[in-house]
Amino acid sequence: MKIQVGGLSEGVHAYNFRITPAELGLPSEFPDGVDITATLEKTSRQLLLRASVATTVEVPCDRCVALIREPLGSGYQMHYVWEETEAERIDPSEVQVMPPGQTVIDLADDVRQTLLLAFPLKNVCREECRGLCFRCGKNLNEGACDCKETLVDGRWDKLKELQNNNSKQAG
Ligand SMILES: [Zn+2]
Ligand SMILES: [Zn+2]
Repeated sequence: MKIQVGGLSEGVHAYNFRITPAELGLPSEFPDGVDITATLEKTSRQLLLRASVATTVEVPCDRCVALIREPLGSGYQMHYVWEETEAERIDPSEVQVMPPGQTVIDLADDVRQTLLLAFPLKNVCREECRGLCFRCGKNLNEGACDCKETLVDGRWDKLKELQNNNSKQAG
């Protein structure tokens, strides 16, 4: 995912890449290709790259651990400058100084970092997911389990006990 910048004319240039997650060194949570849409604006002082990245993530639901796939999109910008003094004026996370004679910029590290930062920390397959029973591990989306029954029954026993006591006292 390299852009040849040697001899590039001033102005805005557009690029599209599609790259495999393996080529980017992404973990298995990224099963699909990554689409990168970028513009590179060249002026006499810098190259300004603006990139949008889009792909898919596959993660387990936090509640029921079923695998879910969801789209993931993010973006970043990067200034490539030739002079250190030029770099000092820019947010350090958004600037790289190009060594003299460098004619290629490689987007791979920045794209990988952007995707890892955008990785979702909370994932549920659907809002109403009932999750797994904390006792027997049954997926409660597929129906209630037996331990839930006994819990409910236990509560009724307590109530009956109270009612009995009350009636004894009343009598
Ligand atoms: Zn779920
Ligand atoms: Zn259970």
